[in-house]
Amino acid sequence: MFWSRRKKKSGLQRIPAAEHGIIPSQICSKAKETLQRLNQAGYEAYLVGGAVRDLMLGKTPKDFDIATNAKPEEVKRLFSSCRLIGRRFRLAHIYFGRFFFLEVATFRGPHHTSSQGTTADDGRIIHDNVYGTIEEDAFRRDFTVNALFYDLESGDVLDYVDGAKDIHSGTLRLIGDPEQRYREDPVRMLRAIRFASKLGLEIHKDTKQPIRKMADLLDNIAPARLFDETLKLFHSGKAVKVLQQLCEYHLFSRLFPMTDEGLHDPIFNAFINTALENTDRRIQSGLSVTPAFLYAVMLWRAVKYHADNALAQGYPMMQAYHIAASIVLKEQVQYTAIPRRFTSMSREIWSLQSRFQYKDCRRAMNFLGHPRFRAAYDFYCLRASVGDGVTTEDCQWWTDFQEQDEDGKLAMCRQHKGKRRRRRRKRKS
Ligand code: ATP
Ligand code: MG
Repeated sequence: MFWSRRKKKSGLQRIPAAEHGIIPSQICSKAKETLQRLNQAGYEAYLVGGAVRDLMLGKTPKDFDIATNAKPEEVKRLFSSCRLIGRRFRLAHIYFGRFFFLEVATFRGPHHTSSQGTTADDGRIIHDNVYGTIEEDAFRRDFTVNALFYDLESGDVLDYVDGAKDIHSGTLRLIGDPEQRYREDPVRMLRAIRFASKLGLEIHKDTKQPIRKMADLLDNIAPARLFDETLKLFHSGKAVKVLQQLCEYHLFSRLFPMTDEGLHDPIFNAFINTALENTDRRIQSGLSVTPAFLYAVMLWRAVKYHADNALAQGYPMMQAYHIAASIVLKEQVQYTAIPRRFTSMSREIWSLQSRFQYKDCRRAMNFLGHPRFRAAYDFYCLRASVGDGVTTEDCQWWTDFQEQDEDGKLAMCRQHKGKRRRRRRKRKS
């Protein structure tokens, strides 16, 4: 078989370039420079993780991470633009310019061999700063496809975990005992869904089997980490698939309990899926996406429910939406800690929905100038597309209105005023 022709020595398989297919020109030049500099200083250094996996799968890597036997302080001594970060994992960031950096991690060993590696009572790893060998570093990684090392000097890929075979067969497999690995870090369950959806890999049966029964372990994870992970999941370009898989493995309710409760409602279900299809399309075309819109979509049904309650108690429309937003966001941040800059934008998207009903010249023109008009309009048309209390004509009116020049806009709202008058007269007679 293709992948079994390689020499095997102490669990290590060296895969030559002719087999793994990675060519140096596919690697970011800054990563190559960094690898060479570390090698010249006498350290071992490899490209590792997502970059090797993606290149072997014929995909474009998102980032180029490096693993080395140099300690963080030694890396810092070698690169003047290096900053050391991290409490849980001490990492070196090497900057090229103000914003672009490469992450260089020292090989880590198993956490139970030293007092520096600490686990909580439930088996979670809370500190993991134990240095180790390359082989140990391979085994502490999550999935076999994420544990491959590319050696720039020889051009070989170093494989301790049969990751290349899994890449070849399209299998996502946890390294080690799945239950133990999920207990150490329950976020690995979410990572399994993300990689399977994003890369089109099949989760191995042993890796998928414990997920449902262990899903509630996510409750022990800090909401800030779950927020980051949620964004990676839903902004991966495969959000529709991600949602379907998160639901299948009972993980979705751990991130979005209020949304999960509403998925049985066909209009809301269509609303969420259409929004995620649009998000995937935007990401695939390189357009920007904001977490505020994602959360506005996910929490919309709960917000409407509480707004209706507030309206029934006699609150005016805008205030009812603010009250509802406060209730829903307060509940949601217990699961995923959404930074305030996003919650305030989601709030605006919701409360601005009521302004689309006013099509008189003064209010319509003012609304167009609102900094959140575009996001609110996208949300409004999304509602129209699934029949969520908005008609497609209403959405079309605002689409046309934006495209008109000044005279055209005036004509449109005057025409609207005329129509309203005629309707009122008709009702009276
Ligand atoms: P992406 O393309 O999304 O960046 P990635 O595989 O590079 O995918 P990262 O989160 O950047 O993912 O992590 C880099 C590498 O660190 C992974 O490939 C994996 O080897 C290791 N890693 C990350 N998170 C974990 C974890 N929770 N448990 C074990 N290993 C992990
Ligand atoms: Mg990465």
